[in-house]
Amino acid sequence: MTQLKTYSAADLTKISEEMDEQTPQQILRWTVEEFFPELTMACSFGGPSGMVLVDMIAQIEPRVEIFYLDTNFLFPETHETRNRVIERYGVQPIAYKSELTPEDQASRYGEELWLSNPDLCCQLRKVEPNRRALAGKRAWIAGIRRDQAATRSSTPAVQWDEKFGLVKVNPLVHWTDADVWAYIVEHDVPYNPLHDNNYPSLGCTYCTKAVRPGDDPRSGRWQGIDKLECGIHTPGEPIPLARGEENTG
Ligand code: SF4
Repeated sequence: MTQLKTYSAADLTKISEEMDEQTPQQILRWTVEEFFPELTMACSFGGPSGMVLVDMIAQIEPRVEIFYLDTNFLFPETHETRNRVIERYGVQPIAYKSELTPEDQASRYGEELWLSNPDLCCQLRKVEPNRRALAGKRAWIAGIRRDQAATRSSTPAVQWDEKFGLVKVNPLVHWTDADVWAYIVEHDVPYNPLHDNNYPSLGCTYCTKAVRPGDDPRSGRWQGIDKLECGIHTPGEPIPLARGEENTG
């Protein structure tokens, strides 16, 4: 068991500034030393950043848990990409699902909740399962990059995640889309084949469209709806954990 350490806001700011000068692999090594095994890594199998992180962590500490949010509405290609990761790296990504089946959701909140109330749909199928994935951990790793969206442009490398109550590490925060793809090509990293068909960023089938070449890569998400984020990576009120789910960080 790792010796527990708690961080003040000032500690994390200082660490984050130092980490901003480091490579993603250096940031990941620090994260593993500090938090493993109370550490988990998110990979959606629907974006290139997560694939880079899986490749890097497999070389640094392959026992780090990897999780993804199976909303029940993922593209078949996303499941295929997960399977290729299992084959390539010998890891077993853990799926977290909504406690409501799609049928339960439709009967409780109405058909096509992703159109009538997409924030609630994301809350039920992404944010709440993400909370369960992080329960009991001291830190999590995410593939957020500053160049992905204006909403992400000031993301620190290391931060206290107020919403989920643990440390969040973003090792690729200072990388660009070009950096990510250069790494994928150089290391022959598996990636979602829909990226080759004008889907640079993939979420659920109902809320993801192909984009035109040159468009904002995230413009295919929630098209026609005033929504840019699912709610996992945006500030918000802390989400209380259930009994027995205390985080340890
Ligand atoms: S991305 Fe769309 S379908 Fe998926 S959980 Fe959010 S609103 Fe629902």
